[in-house]
Amino acid sequence: MKRVYLDHNATTPLDQRVLEAMQPYLGEYFGNASSLHYYGRRAQQALEASRAQAAKLIGAQPDEIIFTSGGTESDNMALRGIAYYKGSGHIITSSVEHHAVLRTCGILAGNDFSVTYLPVDRQGLVDPDEVKRSIRRDTILISVMLANNETGVIEPIPEIGLIARERGIPFHCDAVQAMGKMPVDVGALHVDLLSLSAHKIYGPKGVGALFVKNGTNLSPLITGGHHERGLRAGTENVPAIVGFARALEIAADELDIYRVQVLHLRNKLESNLLTGIEGVTLHSARADRLPHTSCMGFASVEAESILLHLDLKGIAASSGSACTTGEPEPSHVLTTMDVPPEIAQGTIRFSLGRENTEEEIAYTGEVLKAAVSQLRAISFPWQEAGKRIAITGGMNF
Ligand code: PLP
Repeated sequence: MKRVYLDHNATTPLDQRVLEAMQPYLGEYFGNASSLHYYGRRAQQALEASRAQAAKLIGAQPDEIIFTSGGTESDNMALRGIAYYKGSGHIITSSVEHHAVLRTCGILAGNDFSVTYLPVDRQGLVDPDEVKRSIRRDTILISVMLANNETGVIEPIPEIGLIARERGIPFHCDAVQAMGKMPVDVGALHVDLLSLSAHKIYGPKGVGALFVKNGTNLSPLITGGHHERGLRAGTENVPAIVGFARALEIAADELDIYRVQVLHLRNKLESNLLTGIEGVTLHSARADRLPHTSCMGFASVEAESILLHLDLKGIAASSGSACTTGEPEPSHVLTTMDVPPEIAQGTIRFSLGRENTEEEIAYTGEVLKAAVSQLRAISFPWQEAGKRIAITGGMNF
């Protein structure tokens, strides 16, 4: 069966070049990077070369990179690390963050910390002035993501970073989805902490990094040996880290593929669906978005039903973040953006990758048109809406 993968925000396939870079460290060079002998030294060299590579690609110093098990751990390390170091205080974050940030804030809020969740506008954007207004004397951390995993919206991070810096408040940014799809430079973004994950950029799963600007104090979450500057104990996963660094390098080299080729395909998919199907909403249409993400609401149909139809035809997409799939309530991101429930419930996220083709995108458009029309033929809300249109002469979505 023809297979089309349009769920790259959930995860990406492993790039062959990444696998090749990892292979020696899964075999011949298996050493523990802390060992003093030849095997250890080989692993240590690869670890430090990867650290230098990762640092260079985001404009950091090598000793500012802490390797972790992925985006979730990096977010936890930033939030809990600062919070535990300070002991108490106020945290500012946005209400559209990934659950790795939101649930961590929720736990901290029950334990000596207070949290302000910034609202977003209908496009999904945080207002930097709102950040300014929310700052208190006891604010210890601000955390806002660079790009949203559901809508692809790019938040005004440099502006927020400047506000945080003026007030001397550490600023964390989750760049897990943005990396590889737009330039990410810690200096230009004015961030003190930045989360990355390998499996969103054609690297292996279970590895990521936290950038920690020199001079930023945080407590370790995992204690033990003196690995990773004492901030993250545990024998480093050298093959995965080598793969991550190679994936970062390829992502930087091939950024133009996203800017040109993937963006072109994404725009084609959007215009095809917007013109070919009635009652379609393109979320965050007026905001700056990542070039590969498209979040579209199909009024009066259930997203899960559309996804089943797509899956039967070999097309993989998602109804929000992979972590939220299976949860019956509509996505917190769309709810915060004031998207009406009948549209939020029918929202599908398409996230394209560099291997997608024109033919795949045309095929997806055709399958979707058929699926939505089939589902609407048996959708009571849609039939009712149809009657409204007949009476008022307009579509009210
Ligand atoms: N942050 C964002 C914005 C994400 O989209 C994700 C994963 O979907 C994560 C964090 C978690 O990353 P990981 O899967 O590497 O733990």
